Amino acid sequence: MGRFAKKEDEYIIGWIKRFMEYETMIPGFHEEEVSDPEAALKKYGFPLTAKDVSFYPNLDNIREMRPVYPESGASKYAAFMSAKLGYRDELKKICVPTHPAMRKWHKRQAGRCMAVLGARTDALIHLPFTIELSDGCSVGCEFCGLAAGKLKSVFRHTEENGRLFRKSLWKIRELIGPAVEQATMYFASEPLDNPDYELFLRDFEEIYEDNIPQITTAASMRHAGRLHKLLKEINEEGNTIYRFSVLSQKMAEDIFREFSPEELVYTELLPQFDAAPGKSFANVGRRAEKEGVYDNTISCVSGFIVNFANRTVRLTTPTPADHEHPTGQIILDRMEFTDDESLIECIKEMIKKHMMNIISPKDRVRLRQGLSVKISENGVITVTNGKGSEFTIDPQGKDTFYDKMFALFQSGYLTKREIVSELTKDYTEPVMTDTFHYCINRMWELGLLELESGKI
Ligand code: SF4
Repeated sequence: MGRFAKKEDEYIIGWIKRFMEYETMIPGFHEEEVSDPEAALKKYGFPLTAKDVSFYPNLDNIREMRPVYPESGASKYAAFMSAKLGYRDELKKICVPTHPAMRKWHKRQAGRCMAVLGARTDALIHLPFTIELSDGCSVGCEFCGLAAGKLKSVFRHTEENGRLFRKSLWKIRELIGPAVEQATMYFASEPLDNPDYELFLRDFEEIYEDNIPQITTAASMRHAGRLHKLLKEINEEGNTIYRFSVLSQKMAEDIFREFSPEELVYTELLPQFDAAPGKSFANVGRRAEKEGVYDNTISCVSGFIVNFANRTVRLTTPTPADHEHPTGQIILDRMEFTDDESLIECIKEMIKKHMMNIISPKDRVRLRQGLSVKISENGVITVTNGKGSEFTIDPQGKDTFYDKMFALFQSGYLTKREIVSELTKDYTEPVMTDTFHYCINRMWELGLLELESGKI
């Protein structure tokens, strides 16, 4: 992937980005800036003009930012933001496993998430594999979407552990495919809690051909020295991002003092404190449990999370948070391993047990709750969820059985056998039975059906 910005544009982009960060994190800055833009820019020491930070309001919710003055620095910033969005789209394509059963399962989970979570799911990458280098987290953010427990242990880079880590990475890629190279080395954990993070990073990059795993850290000021070095690498490449969670206005100001705008060009600052004008909290995890309001997920993994500190592997996929799934993820399985061989055996067993890609004739299915179906004159089927997601199925011509098939899907749980036998009543050709089985499997593959057994 190419750079998100040309080296020579990073200075102006960095400053415009910092201006945006003031808007989202410094209370009162926006009001000052609106009343007298040039005076506010001068007061806060921005080497920018008001034209550099003038964008048309995004009333139509389009992806691209539209600069009011295209000849200003604003155009460079808008192009940079588009390149980052393009990177996310690209990442979604790269993250597809090559293991045949997992590939189908992974695609179905992406469809299911679209059906239940809506268009905002667009931002989910569905990583097929990710790593935790510690058990628990030392930070304890009150908004933690994954409700990470207290830090219990870290996986130090001893000779033996280093060997286990490297062998595991090799074998997991062999099994699942190159998509695993997009793994991060944190999930419900703080990456920099591990003092040997940089040593594991070196191993990771050696095995996964120079892919730099993304970092999200809530401890940027505690580890500023380490981050200055780590940032050099992503800034050199210019095609990946880091994220700093910002937990207070003071922390924002400390970060602004510690790291120059150019140094943080490829690092997103997430305003995660109540006083921040642009605060963004998902109703999931610790905060949701405290407030009793659930809705959303921050999980981006449809696959395996390997925790090397407590030697466990879990299979997980996102879901809207609720009482049953407070962290917005369905944890399908969790197994313990002792070495790289047993880790691979655990993963193979979970694939076999959970990645069922064909519905059996006895499985009871129905259309996923909350979906509506419309079949047009020319037979095109549109399934919507009222949350911005739309699935279009074009069977290339009007087949009347689709009306009946969807009516059966909507009538409550029926076995696949019952649905097929209902549909075949209208046909004499035996070949149609196979067609019906195929169509039901296809709807399942797209994530549109749910099974009474709860299998996903
Ligand atoms: S959000 Fe991250 S840093 Fe904060 S408690 Fe959760 S895992 Fe730890």
